[in-house]
Amino acid sequence: MTTAERVRRINPSPSTAAAQRVRELKGRGLTIHDLTVGEPDFDTPGHVKAAAIAAIEAGETKYTPVDGTPALRAAIAGKLRQRHGLEYGDGRITVGGGAKQVIFLALMATLDAGDEVVVPAPYWVSYPDMVLANDGTPVIVDCPEADGFKLTPGRLRPALTDRTRWVVLNTPGNPTGAAYTPGELRALADVLLEHPHVRVLTDEIYDEIWYDDGDNPSLAAVEPRLADRVFLTNGVSKTYAMTGWRIGYGAGPADLVTAINTLQSQISSCPSSVSQAAAAAALAGPQEFVRETVGVYRERRDTTVKLIEDIPGLSCLTPSGGFYLLVNCRPYLGRFTPEGKRIENDEDFCRHLLESQQVAVIHGSAYGAPGYFRISFATATHHLTEACARIATACAALTERPS
Ligand code: PLP
Repeated sequence: MTTAERVRRINPSPSTAAAQRVRELKGRGLTIHDLTVGEPDFDTPGHVKAAAIAAIEAGETKYTPVDGTPALRAAIAGKLRQRHGLEYGDGRITVGGGAKQVIFLALMATLDAGDEVVVPAPYWVSYPDMVLANDGTPVIVDCPEADGFKLTPGRLRPALTDRTRWVVLNTPGNPTGAAYTPGELRALADVLLEHPHVRVLTDEIYDEIWYDDGDNPSLAAVEPRLADRVFLTNGVSKTYAMTGWRIGYGAGPADLVTAINTLQSQISSCPSSVSQAAAAAALAGPQEFVRETVGVYRERRDTTVKLIEDIPGLSCLTPSGGFYLLVNCRPYLGRFTPEGKRIENDEDFCRHLLESQQVAVIHGSAYGAPGYFRISFATATHHLTEACARIATACAALTERPS
């Protein structure tokens, strides 16, 4: 079989590959301390499951409108109004099989060969490959730790060209947990207002898993003049522990939403009717689950940041949201394992953690962050404590010279 050029341009997601490696090792009977998982370790709330069962029993098992059921779109509009004061009327919201699919469709609907998409690094692994799969050119803009891993006006401006179609802003971000303040969004908005041909895709999938004061701000609300150029994407996967239900959504300009719906009508017709009923219950129903789980994540975040900071040579910024830490392991590059192997890069470092201490993490290069690795703290505290103790042991075993 000859695969299409677009498939040969892209890689399978490194997080999926890491999960596969962990499964293989576990299959061989090894105990793996797995910090790679990018999904909540909680079960979907009971009232959400009940809504899905009720939908099945009420016969809601047929195709729905391409852009989602009216009930789900109303629940999404309600959330965006309540949280950000944003109004999205008819034809400005669409629903897909996860935020991932919605983002992919937005790129598919707007990119022609050679069109550019600005992707600040560190980035969620899928953005560059999604751009490539849709014939675009990712323009990676390095956002160093010294800038809090965030895009600044000074770095954004020179990255914009006549071919720029999109700037991607993931806030709070995967893998850093960094989130833009209203002031930082304001400063980026000023640059974007100078370039009316550029649209902004905000990925707000971690918006409710939020630790700072106030609410996570949204660009479309901070600068209403950009509202017609922002495509706000989000979903229920992370907030409501619903990764397997596959429901995400996008809200933005009507022409873009129409184009996405046209593609969706030929791709999957609509997202799962039962999952949509569940998502509507999650968004419109009681929110105690979110408050409780965010409290648990916060404790895990604080514990893990402290444990990492206590390991000589490792450091990380405290995330504002999400459930990841991006850990700086640069001081260990160039050191040697007890077997005499030189740690050349973050991938070698992560291999050393896995082989010597059975701790699985994801190397930073996968996220455009060489010299770092990502920890997910969406797992029980005793796992985090044990894994961090093992990371400390693995670090202590690395020497300046081969032994
Ligand atoms: N955006 C980011 C930044 C993510 O980390 C993820 C999942 O890992 C997604 C989007 C995809 O979410 P969904 O499950 O809604 O497709």
